Amino acid sequence: MTTSPAPQPIRRVVIAGGGTAGWMVAAGLAKCLGRQLEIRLVESEEIGTVGVGEATIPTLHFMHEILDLEEKEFIQATQATFKLGISFENWRNVGEHYFHSFGKTGQGHWTAGFHHFWLDARRRGLAGGYGEYCLELQAAMANRFALLPDNGINYAYHFDATLYGQYLRRFSEPLGVQRIEGKIAQVHTDAASGNITGLQLADGTRVDGDFFIDCTGMRSLLLGETLGVPYESWSHWLPCDSALAVQTTRVGEPVPYTRSIAHPWGWQWRIPLQHRVGNGVVFSSRHISDDEAKAALLANVEGEVLREPRVIRFTPGQREQVWKKNCVAIGLSSGFLEPLESTSIHLIQKGMTRLVELFPSDGIRQSDVDEYNQQAREAIEVIRDFIILHYHVTNRDDSAFWRGCRDMEVPALLKHRLQHFRDTARIALRPGELFAENSWVQVMMGQGIQPASHHPITRNMDDRTLADFLGGVRKEVARTLMKLPSHQQFIDQFCPAP
Ligand code: FAD
Repeated sequence: MTTSPAPQPIRRVVIAGGGTAGWMVAAGLAKCLGRQLEIRLVESEEIGTVGVGEATIPTLHFMHEILDLEEKEFIQATQATFKLGISFENWRNVGEHYFHSFGKTGQGHWTAGFHHFWLDARRRGLAGGYGEYCLELQAAMANRFALLPDNGINYAYHFDATLYGQYLRRFSEPLGVQRIEGKIAQVHTDAASGNITGLQLADGTRVDGDFFIDCTGMRSLLLGETLGVPYESWSHWLPCDSALAVQTTRVGEPVPYTRSIAHPWGWQWRIPLQHRVGNGVVFSSRHISDDEAKAALLANVEGEVLREPRVIRFTPGQREQVWKKNCVAIGLSSGFLEPLESTSIHLIQKGMTRLVELFPSDGIRQSDVDEYNQQAREAIEVIRDFIILHYHVTNRDDSAFWRGCRDMEVPALLKHRLQHFRDTARIALRPGELFAENSWVQVMMGQGIQPASHHPITRNMDDRTLADFLGGVRKEVARTLMKLPSHQQFIDQFCPAP
């Protein structure tokens, strides 16, 4: 009988890359396990970061809770604004828009979400628009914001990604993270085990470690290039493969939401920060050239352009495994969907927290590796399906791009969800999913699905009771909305410029 060698304890951790992923991982690891680990981060100013990734979702609060960060300090340091959701313009039909808010819409019953009551009320002629029952949506449209007690308003942030990286670096270094400036020229592996042993920098320095975290961006220098883990492409479901990003000067007060404006070949984002606006187009290179996309972007921005737009190529998908041997990839090195629902920073955070939960201090066990890979796959696949929904369910047929999206075969679980919602208004959610019922309902209805029926529980209510129930929700939303200052007023009061 052969015995496998005893697992080697992990003490020296090397993070390759200092973009948003590298510094979020450094901060989280240092905070949670810093006393037991020696953490070094290698990054190259010459290579730089991808330089985009400025819209977040509310899960980021958990990251900041873990780090025990002060919200005001974070907002000042990153020029952040508040985000209540995303406005989807021209997605269902040109000239129409809907809103995916972070908030709850009304309050449902354990048997059926609020939208079942709303659907019945609308059928009986008793309901206003679905968005009238959602505080976050109403506040976004009125450009108002305030923090409310008991998490009374659900929000995320827009922030300057470069400033966020610098902020997390200032947080991490006092906790013992050692930053090493340099270009990784070679990755050394052990011939017998296949493990990574060290990074050779261009100046000859060698950074050895027991465990490596690949945060080198799309190149995936460690997991992809060195360990040879293949990339699984999802471009048959997600048609965009290119982006152009450009920053412009601030024009007017920032709105508390991201704008996503569909075009015949992709879509455009607008992300307002305190000091400037982030803009970009995400497009399919099979349907529009870089030059045409650039012209369309520049024709659709406000304010002065601060820097030449830059083309970024990507393949939607993920590495077949994100942990192999003694290397975990987190961030773009592990995969990328596309920025439509601002989920990449969330996936970085999940990667970091999952790693802390499964950290192999006493040595790497294959069961931890398998568990990490399984959880990572489940986390990204449900987000992937949610994004596909936006492209696939549309009335648009004005371009080959949109016709292709409408006609494509979608993943089996998404297909089931769409049918289930069309038939019954029910959302086939799985435990632990990122996007909850209200997100799916807003996007499914926003993209144009009208369910054929709804849950029978609503029939227990006569017209008067149902109208009073919905009217009560709407009044409460309107009452709270009246009390909110403008978004800009709130920023000025909450965190005045230092
Ligand atoms: P990078 O930022 O590319 O960092 C890689 C790091 O590795 C850098 O420090 C680099 O210097 C270093 N490096 C690479 N090679 C070497 C080497 N040889 N030697 C030394 N160092 C090296 N996410 C969101 O959550 N919200 C959004 O709104 C959003 N918008 C996006 C828009 C676009 C167009 C794209 C492409 C992505 C967007 N993302 C968004 C994703 C987000 O940008 C990334 O998840 C995030 O920036 C993390 O990137 P990263 O740290 O993995 O990679």
